[in-house]
Amino acid sequence: MKNIMFIAPPAAGKGTQAELVVSKYNLPHISTGDILREISKEDSEVGNYVRETLASGNLVKDEITYKLIEERLKKDDCKNGYIIDGFPRNLDQAREYDKILQDLGYEVGNVILINIDEKTLENRIVGRRLCEDCGAIYNINDPKSSPKVESVCDNCGGKLYQRTDDNLESFQTRYQMYLEKTAPIIDYYKKQNVLHEVDGDDTVENVFAKIDEIIKK
Ligand SMILES: [Zn+2]
Repeated sequence: MKNIMFIAPPAAGKGTQAELVVSKYNLPHISTGDILREISKEDSEVGNYVRETLASGNLVKDEITYKLIEERLKKDDCKNGYIIDGFPRNLDQAREYDKILQDLGYEVGNVILINIDEKTLENRIVGRRLCEDCGAIYNINDPKSSPKVESVCDNCGGKLYQRTDDNLESFQTRYQMYLEKTAPIIDYYKKQNVLHEVDGDDTVENVFAKIDEIIKK
């Protein structure tokens, strides 16, 4: 099984697709966020450093993150393939990741780009509503996933709310960041002939079917 990396703009459904792949193929899901949270529980030099850095709202030094990722990828459960999520986030990290792969004798595998245009993402974010009781997700900008009664959950009758960061301004900031930092790594992987593009403007099931076809090849 080849390793899998997802690249996607904010709100493209990357997390959902990663979970579907994890549950179908039983792959370890490697995320830098999880690695840092895990290590911050340890009473060690690096554990203390990471805990204090995260608590103060600062970013963990790149060298430390690289080292922790390498340690994690070295474990047995990664030898038959894994999904890496949230890394690399920029070109420097992509180059560093290549070095890690080389050290471990791994290949980058399939890099899957979930493509959606900016306007569609904007509608998704701004229209997203969640149920306070059962967590069901709706979108008032999409007739197929609007609630039957305004502001009321179809499943449980709970009240729907909007997350505070689901607003236009926050989306635009995140999207600009994506264009600046993440888009260059798309070219980087294109040149290595490992990039697969998937149209993400579709149902979760259909997007997953397209991703699954790439994985099965
Ligand atoms: Zn509900």
